Amino acid sequence: MQHTSVKKRIFLSPPHLSGRELKYISEAFASNWVAPVGPNVDEFEKEVASLVGAKGAVAVSSGTAAIHLALSLLGVKKGDTVFCSSLTFVASANPILYLGADPVFIDSEPVTWSMSPSALKEALKEAASICKLPKAVIIVNLYGQSAKMDELVSICKEYQIPIIEDSAESLGATYKGKASGTFGDFGIYSFNGNKIITTSGGGMLVSDDTDALSKARFLATQAKDPAPFYQHSELGYNYRMSNILAGLGRGQLEVLEERVAARRAIFEIYQQELGPFLAVSLMPELENSFSTRWLTALTIDEEALGVSINELLESLESENIEARHVWKPLHMQPLFTKNKYYSHSKNENISEKLFKTGICLPSGSNMTLGEQKRIIDCIKVTISNGLKKR
Ligand SMILES: *Cc1c(COP(=O)(O)O)cnc(C)c1O
Repeated sequence: MQHTSVKKRIFLSPPHLSGRELKYISEAFASNWVAPVGPNVDEFEKEVASLVGAKGAVAVSSGTAAIHLALSLLGVKKGDTVFCSSLTFVASANPILYLGADPVFIDSEPVTWSMSPSALKEALKEAASICKLPKAVIIVNLYGQSAKMDELVSICKEYQIPIIEDSAESLGATYKGKASGTFGDFGIYSFNGNKIITTSGGGMLVSDDTDALSKARFLATQAKDPAPFYQHSELGYNYRMSNILAGLGRGQLEVLEERVAARRAIFEIYQQELGPFLAVSLMPELENSFSTRWLTALTIDEEALGVSINELLESLESENIEARHVWKPLHMQPLFTKNKYYSHSKNENISEKLFKTGICLPSGSNMTLGEQKRIIDCIKVTISNGLKKR
């Protein structure tokens, strides 16, 4: 009987505990604060707000819930339109549908891979001409890299359109020294299991508008009116974060800086080892910005390399390594076939190109050098086989 040893799986971005979480979780147990309210929730909110320099924060059950609340606070209703980055995870746009509104998708630009200012400008110009301006613009900071916020903010200001910054992947990133997630009217972070820090599942809404944040807390706890009985005048949600999970978050937040540094170091190694291949380009970092490098992403020139993205993914999978395509743009998703889309320019469709040529490599902050070597060796072998075939 032949025995084949299966190599340990390397995941794309697994959770990474700090060892400090149990202290906060034990406190929750000891004090019986095992509820979606309690001291860990209050402290976690204060800690995140202070870290990013926002006036306040509301801890919720997911990043998606935070986007849903932000859109509700901005009064998005059935029939409204909301602009959204196209190159992102579906969770950025799903809450637009929850509210019965219509997303309009905006392309990326080549440096940040995030929202293209020229596409946004074009979309707003056209929307203004038919008197159908959006109620909000959702700007996603992709893979931990801040979008070109100065340009995007100034375009939105011109039309007085509020901004929601989807910083699910960019907690710890900065743009011109200011924290990612603090450029719009609202910012959101995610603590899902695959993000930079995790509460196993959770999210945070941040803003300088403390009245709006109070309203968010109200909406997130079933919109209970201040009455001596259960009275409800508005539609609410059950979106608050548990005090146990907030404890997990506090233990994670203490090591955020280390986690970002680890992910950036992983990127540097990929850059050193794979960057020299002329047909390989790693995702750039915008000048005057600091990316979390949540995931190391790169694009390849399939023809010059003699290898396709699918072949790369297959060889990695055969070595029990989890890698992924770059997000499939939302305007290409069957769910959104009826929705409008604005490309970077007439002849340039950046998000589609990134999807066709891009790959995300394992980037977990707890990945060992040996594991990263396994990934790099596998890619190099695949590339050299491809080059031989040509
Ligand atoms: C993860 C993610 C979300 C959703 O966050 P959840 O906490 O999983 O709901 C939203 N937007 C982007 C860009 C994400 O990566």
